[in-house]
Amino acid sequence: MRPMIKARVLQERCTGCGVCEQLCPMEAIGMEGGKALVLDHCSGCMMCMQGCTMEAIQPMYLEPEPEMAQTGPHGHAPVARAWGHGDPER
Ligand code: SF4
Ligand code: SF4
Repeated sequence: MRPMIKARVLQERCTGCGVCEQLCPMEAIGMEGGKALVLDHCSGCMMCMQGCTMEAIQPMYLEPEPEMAQTGPHGHAPVARAWGHGDPER
């Protein structure tokens, strides 16, 4: 099954420290020109992102669903509005 996300490296932020390469359980990160490079078989687990202190790794959504992209997969939309009494003065 194809993962819905993969990691991507923001080259301008990457210092080439190699931490992500060490963390990746899939050995899906290599180094090229002193920067991390995510390989095709990345599983999208995002372990690498958690270890990158430079915030150089971001998720890349391969099959974005417009509604999900806006609110998150399980709905982070504000629910309070559905129940609130709508007191605009407060
Ligand atoms: S951990 Fe971050 S800064 Fe270090 S090599 Fe990986 S992407 Fe680059
Ligand atoms: S998302 Fe997971 S599999 Fe992909 S490069 Fe990062 S640690 Fe490796």
